[in-house]
Amino acid sequence: MRRISILGATGSIGQNTLDLIRRAPGEFEVVALTGGRNIAQLAADAREMRAEIAVTADPARLGELRSALAGSDVRAAAGEAALIEAARLPADWIMSAIVGAAGLAPGMAALEQGTTLALANKESLVAAGPLMLETAARHGARILPVDSEHSAIFQALVGEDASAIDRVVITASGGAFRDRPLSDLAHVTVAEASRHPNWDMGQRITIDSASMFNKALEIIEAKEFFGLEPAQIEVLVHPQSTVHALVGFVDGAMMAHVGPPDMRHAIGYALNWPERRALPVERLDLAALGRLDFSHPDPARYPALGLARQVMAAGGHAGAVFNAAKERALDHFIAGRAGFAQMSDLVARALEEMDKRADSGPISLESVARWDHLTRQHVDRLIAA
Ligand code: NDP
Ligand code: MG
Repeated sequence: MRRISILGATGSIGQNTLDLIRRAPGEFEVVALTGGRNIAQLAADAREMRAEIAVTADPARLGELRSALAGSDVRAAAGEAALIEAARLPADWIMSAIVGAAGLAPGMAALEQGTTLALANKESLVAAGPLMLETAARHGARILPVDSEHSAIFQALVGEDASAIDRVVITASGGAFRDRPLSDLAHVTVAEASRHPNWDMGQRITIDSASMFNKALEIIEAKEFFGLEPAQIEVLVHPQSTVHALVGFVDGAMMAHVGPPDMRHAIGYALNWPERRALPVERLDLAALGRLDFSHPDPARYPALGLARQVMAAGGHAGAVFNAAKERALDHFIAGRAGFAQMSDLVARALEEMDKRADSGPISLESVARWDHLTRQHVDRLIAA
């Protein structure tokens, strides 16, 4: 039996992962499940899966979790240190599916035990890519991509040599506002931004898809994951969300990954890797789909993409600043304190502010946490001004 843990089990990726685990009875032993505020879900899944431990990120909810687990053998724990301890419990495969920079420290703890980390939490790679890769190499850990575009690239590269890659193209649906007049974007609501045309995901990544901050993170994620030059990474708008990514090779061929917009494909690929197994996803009917469209993203509609280029050129802690500013700007948008189009302004100003302070020294968990904290404070000051 393979021992597995899921960090962020109560979220969209976590629940899809559990769906696949349920369909393979007797194959997996669940070690740790972690969540945040959704204690009922966490406790129900931990009981059903007979997990060793269930951890909530929120210390104030420990009592609630304990009561929900009363009478079971599942241990309850809470808080950031407990999340890290859970990630250290020996497991063969760990899903990193906490949302945001909060996923970095637990993900690092998982890598330090030399396990296989299925990485959905792209924010950690954006904030601290070199640190994560170096930690994985030092401890003999493996990182498998779960983000659909990166899983698609990974799959297209099976049997290929890195030197044969000319470029990669990742696709974007264009999000909720692809066809909205640009002048509307200052006034769109949180509810509208939370509806994705093709994918069913957590609220934050759905809004990030509308602004293309998600795609901006993914460009940086692709650079880190596959060791690419920024100029080798392109983004195309592809409204059907059927081709997830393409790899262009030096001989002119392109390998496209085509699949339904169902995260259980990418999660399942990482779960079964290096094998391919049957998964409960729709079989695509390309004739019914009829056409696949591609176009260049409009830089005026999606300023986040230009900011990602700036971040890659700057290096150092720019990724940590970019991610923290994006997360905080999104908090303010969700809380009604910032407009949709204002988010990219806030992030741009946070990057400018960083330029004024000298960024020096290697990337460590502490330095990333420091830049993260300074950046969130700066965005709060911009909002308060
Ligand atoms: P959700 O918001 O649905 O779930 C997030 C998970 O993280 C939940 O378990 C939540 O707990 C937990 N959580 C929230 N805040 C904290 C915190 N501060 N500390 C610890 N745990 C916390 O997100 P998604 O599942 O959509 O996304 C998860 C990750 O996967 C993100 O990095 C996202 O970018 C990435 N991803 C997601 C895709 C998708 O299809 N959803 C596609 C590709 C990548 P609770 O809900 O109990 O509060
Ligand atoms: Mg993606």
